[in-house]
Amino acid sequence: MTNISEIQQQIKSTSARAVVENAIKLAKDSSEYNALLNLTEDRALLRADKVDAGLIGGKLAGVPFVVKDNFLAFGAPTTAASKMLESFDAPLQATAVEKLEAEGAICIGKSNLDAFAHGGSTENSAFGPTKNAIDQTRVAGGSSGGSAVITALDVVPFALGTDTGGSIRQPASFNGVVGVKPTYGTVSRYGVVAMASSTDTIGALTNSVADAELVMSVISGRDERDMTTLPDYFKPQPDVKPAQKIGLIRDFMAEGVDPEVRAAINNYVEKLRADGHIVEEVDLPMVEYALAIYYIIVPAEISSNLARYDGIRYGHRATGVKTLAELYGQTRDQGFVTENKRRIMIGSYVLSSGFFDAYYLQAQKARTLLVNEFNELFSKYDALIGPVAPTTAFKLGENTTDPIKMYLNDIMTVPASLVGLPAISVPAGVSQSGMPVGVQIIGPSRSDAELLSLAKSMEDK
Ligand code: GLN
Repeated sequence: MTNISEIQQQIKSTSARAVVENAIKLAKDSSEYNALLNLTEDRALLRADKVDAGLIGGKLAGVPFVVKDNFLAFGAPTTAASKMLESFDAPLQATAVEKLEAEGAICIGKSNLDAFAHGGSTENSAFGPTKNAIDQTRVAGGSSGGSAVITALDVVPFALGTDTGGSIRQPASFNGVVGVKPTYGTVSRYGVVAMASSTDTIGALTNSVADAELVMSVISGRDERDMTTLPDYFKPQPDVKPAQKIGLIRDFMAEGVDPEVRAAINNYVEKLRADGHIVEEVDLPMVEYALAIYYIIVPAEISSNLARYDGIRYGHRATGVKTLAELYGQTRDQGFVTENKRRIMIGSYVLSSGFFDAYYLQAQKARTLLVNEFNELFSKYDALIGPVAPTTAFKLGENTTDPIKMYLNDIMTVPASLVGLPAISVPAGVSQSGMPVGVQIIGPSRSDAELLSLAKSMEDK
């Protein structure tokens, strides 16, 4: 696994150009995974030369990375893996990308995702699915599947992703890399294609916890252009406080969960105990309702956020139409994939005047009960742990015909999203068939650095 510090060594002993050229070559050699939608080759090489000439510097000078293709970035279109934005050129760059560039990092390409980040396998991409880094017959996970695979394949030492209901954590788990979904508001959402504004977060996928800390310390922080960003608080913690009190979420370890996944988590728990931490089983009964809450609130926000794609203001526009209604209808029919349309329809329905109280309002009330349950647990525990998903990476095509089955895979990641809590996924072993299993560590709001510090102390144990 390539880490940022190794790449920095290579830059010192060769050049930024050599390192970036190599990353681009590796990206091209791994095209069968369909992890990248576009390379930003010309711009990347131009920036590498500037690093070598001493014109660009910083903490990450010359270090190549990849961004999920729902971040606005220069050098290639920002497609969100959709026909709607297939040839959309960003007029500005996302704050997270700007911050990385300000430290000298070099974006080499845009990674594949479920169109508009709607999904958990990257099979909803309008440009074909991404294949798992370990087993090409399996899914990459999603929606940040391309970012996870490209990191796992060692093309780049880190990639950016978005996590609205698990889209960083779950593909990290499926490909054996580290994934960080920060506290809501830690990283600016400015310049990132909106999915569900109340749970959208920006984070990193890396090959080590230390690299995740480094990337988060660069991209986090208050941004006047995103009024939901929190005041700066993220600060890497050198040491984990001893004897953490950790709750193992019993509801995530129930019968239906793959025994190999449970075994990997139990093994991690034993290692935590061996390190002196206290791990006790805890209950989170509201988990039973988490998916129902998520799949009402998130489509509601999606239906609102995606209303802007009308063929007039952004991207694709249908031709050969006679009326304005036809223009809207056909543009949206051609530009969105089935899953986008499903969510727009569900969202419009739960927000409609006759059903608003019965669905949307009820879901928001239930969300508050979930918040209360987490608060109660965090009055007794420093962190909670459990699996990231009920299974390891499933076979390509296995769940595509059954959206409910696909949604069920999100059961363990949506609770932290609905509550805005930080949650990380770190490798916790492999199944008998060699598929990676991730352990999820969830903490109270703004405990991101503490979670990473705990995970770092457990790495390689
Ligand atoms: N799998 C979840 C969904 O389909 C999460 C998506 C995400 O985090 N972008 O909604």
